[in-house]
Amino acid sequence: MPKNNLLEKITALCKRRGFIFPSSGIYGGIAGIYDYGPLGVALAKNIKDLWWQDMVEKRTDMYGLDGSILMHPRSWEASGHVAGFTDPLVDCGDCQKRFRPDKLEGWKLKKDNQTGQFRVIKTGSLKCPVCGGRLIAKVRQFNVLMETSLGAIEGEKMKAYLKGESCQNIYLDFIDIVNSFSPKLPFGIAQIGKAFRNEITLGKFIFKTREFEQFDIEYFTRPQDSTRFYREWKKIRWDWYRKRLGLKEKNLRWRQHDEDERIFYAKDAWDIDYFYPWGWDELEGVHDRSDYDLTQHAKFSGKKLDIPDQETNQRIVPFIVECSGGVGRTMLAVLLDAYREEEGTNGIRVFLSLDVKIAPYKVAVFPLLANKAELIKKARSVYENLKDHFRVTWDEIGNIGKRYRRQDEAGTPWCVTIDYQSLKDEMVTVRDRDTMAQKRLAVARLADFFKKKLNS
Ligand code: ATP
Repeated sequence: MPKNNLLEKITALCKRRGFIFPSSGIYGGIAGIYDYGPLGVALAKNIKDLWWQDMVEKRTDMYGLDGSILMHPRSWEASGHVAGFTDPLVDCGDCQKRFRPDKLEGWKLKKDNQTGQFRVIKTGSLKCPVCGGRLIAKVRQFNVLMETSLGAIEGEKMKAYLKGESCQNIYLDFIDIVNSFSPKLPFGIAQIGKAFRNEITLGKFIFKTREFEQFDIEYFTRPQDSTRFYREWKKIRWDWYRKRLGLKEKNLRWRQHDEDERIFYAKDAWDIDYFYPWGWDELEGVHDRSDYDLTQHAKFSGKKLDIPDQETNQRIVPFIVECSGGVGRTMLAVLLDAYREEEGTNGIRVFLSLDVKIAPYKVAVFPLLANKAELIKKARSVYENLKDHFRVTWDEIGNIGKRYRRQDEAGTPWCVTIDYQSLKDEMVTVRDRDTMAQKRLAVARLADFFKKKLNS
């Protein structure tokens, strides 16, 4: 399918079907912030649950964490975010809009990977992409951390930051987890949590937002083992996107950070990229981070963050392999991969061919007619019985054709219709989302039929 206006189509479908809305829409929205509606919550939850099951619950070496959004402000100094979590920006002298010059034509910038600051190598076009006016050539450094303040009394308030990246609590709580569980190296801590960044370039739907969710793994190893486990985690994360989530191989690739891009303490850094409608872009970063994070927090907090190596009895600061992905970016990739348009007798049929594991609803149940009490009663009993086993939705609005269209766009794998014949023979029509094939099945067999399909 041509990718040219695919993003617009997905954005419209998400709004129409209640996956994702612009936040505060009645006030005109707010750039880079979105609300997840009923289907969006369900899809995001299914993706996160799958990640949590695979990365935490099915492993014996992983510990889960749900850290706070507000953390001690010193922790952001230790991590380097206060000094160096910056984006370069130029202003338009006419419309006052701001842009990242590294995303504009002809510009070349270099990031100092010690300080995080950008230096202009080549000044490119000074034409404002929005109003055509003139950009002010001076590049400013803009810190993307979001500030807030704690405390009740003006003047005594303490400056704090909303988490710029979700994983930071993992380093701070590392020693508490070691003290509570005495884990043996290697082991990992995993967290799904919110992060906030004052991003300058927005406009790619949920790809880049100012408030977003990340799933993070920090895997602690002996220093000499980090390369081996780095390779292992690269494979685990690739296979998760490819095989567990079912993203298409042709839409995924590895990209290694070059020397300029890689932060100075990292031993190696690769991104898993997805082929979004505008081209390849980052889905997840898998980085071999050395002992930098724990060493920095030990220095700034004055607390020891070295632990005994149970094999040698020596105290060491573990090295960290990090896998940091975005829930929103993953969800967008899933939606793009699943989007289908098919020419049919009634025009174009749009459907989401979502993997059944993550589809918001597994089954939709309809009475053929909404105003016939006997059909509703029978359909209700089918619905009640199925909803004990998996997520089921009820739909009686409009005609059957319209209901199928709605469920196709919601990515519901199967629709069940109860008609007059069902009242006589206890059989119902089951329709498949992808093939539109229909068959009659006994009511008594329905739950097992879907369970088998869901587990295959
Ligand atoms: P990019 O430069 O592509 O915006 P990044 O390199 O700054 O991303 P990281 O800091 O490595 O991203 O964050 C890890 C993951 O968090 C990313 O791979 C992405 O999936 C997600 N992420 C980062 N920033 C955003 C954002 N503004 N909106 C949505 N997801 C984000």
